[in-house]
Amino acid sequence: MSALESLECPVCGSLYDPRVPQTICAACVSPLLCQYDLAALKRELDRDAFAARPRGIWRWHEMLPVLDPSHQMTLGEGDTPLIKADRLAGALGLRHLYIKDEGRNPTGTFKARGLCMAVAKALELGLRELWMPTAGNAGSALAAYAARAGIQAYVFMPADAPEIYQREVMAYGARLERLPGFLDQVGERAEKQAREQGWFGVATFKEPYRVEGKKTMGLELAEAFKWRLPEVILYPTGGGTGLVGMWKAFRELEALGWLEGPLPKLVAVQPEGCAPVVRALEKGHERISLWRRPRTAAHGLRVPKVFADRLVLKAVRESTGRGVVVSEVEIQEARTELGQVEGLSACLEGAATWAGLKRLVKEGWLPAEARIVLFNTGTGLKQAVGRN
Ligand SMILES: *Cc1c(COP(=O)(O)O)cnc(C)c1O
Ligand SMILES: [Zn+2]
Repeated sequence: MSALESLECPVCGSLYDPRVPQTICAACVSPLLCQYDLAALKRELDRDAFAARPRGIWRWHEMLPVLDPSHQMTLGEGDTPLIKADRLAGALGLRHLYIKDEGRNPTGTFKARGLCMAVAKALELGLRELWMPTAGNAGSALAAYAARAGIQAYVFMPADAPEIYQREVMAYGARLERLPGFLDQVGERAEKQAREQGWFGVATFKEPYRVEGKKTMGLELAEAFKWRLPEVILYPTGGGTGLVGMWKAFRELEALGWLEGPLPKLVAVQPEGCAPVVRALEKGHERISLWRRPRTAAHGLRVPKVFADRLVLKAVRESTGRGVVVSEVEIQEARTELGQVEGLSACLEGAATWAGLKRLVKEGWLPAEARIVLFNTGTGLKQAVGRN
């Protein structure tokens, strides 16, 4: 049984009823976050209970928002491998390097976790038409889970999005529309149509449940590291759902009393051509401003406007983490190395974390003994090698 209690605005503290569809706190223009009865879970649940359950994100159903087990739909998402990368680690003089390979998820990226959750919850709340603007991967995940749920998805992509993302969305039966402009402009242009049609939006952080799906990455890490979390996590950051989701996971596990040792430092990795999060972190800003003319071949990181800016900055700062930027050339080289040295199929976004790690080592920021996790957020197969 889910221990979901309420939805809370993290800015003003207002509570919202999770039994009806909710979007954001309009007063604060902030995402809403799920609150659980962790005190009850602490009494009733044992952290060792999860290992014996069937694989996948629903192992954690008590800490997830779907109430009725019949809505726990699955395509086999989650419980992705954590691969120890000793040869890459050795090249940098490190000893404990791991890569969480999210490319093994349905539709080839970690977007499956969030959209599985959002679509399952939408189904539970009686919603039958969902829409989103996307750089690509979120759209295919939405399309796949909507098909599975028997509901209609409407996906809006920048006109210059690579063809493979467009084809993938249509292959799962979603309606695709391509619009001019960058992702933020695509979202604004599509919003009017969606409102007129009465479609429910599942864009990043515009509803409270995608981030709960992403939270499972943090839960899996805690379990895999025997409840003593790694010292550093490098995450390729676009809208920041994974950072906020994992930080939420760690805080909840802490409240449950299941963790031993300190929480990890979160490192937001972004490309030079679109680094609004890193810029705000380095300048000490409270909010993240729009990045003009975002440019990177790592399309999942081409997010000029970070809607959950306060939450993303809070997660990284509370963790005493930081940001790091990498160049396009470094990203391409990093991808080649992940493939040739460890046999991993990395997307450009994921490869950026290996490039970022190299920068951190060069700066002397990392102790050699640190346990480090890189997130390869997707398969390399959607982005032709040497042709981006
Ligand atoms: C969406 C995406 C990202 C960025 O994820 P956020 O959690 O929104 O920051 C990174 N990598 C890939 C492959 C993506 O599709
Ligand atoms: Zn509020």
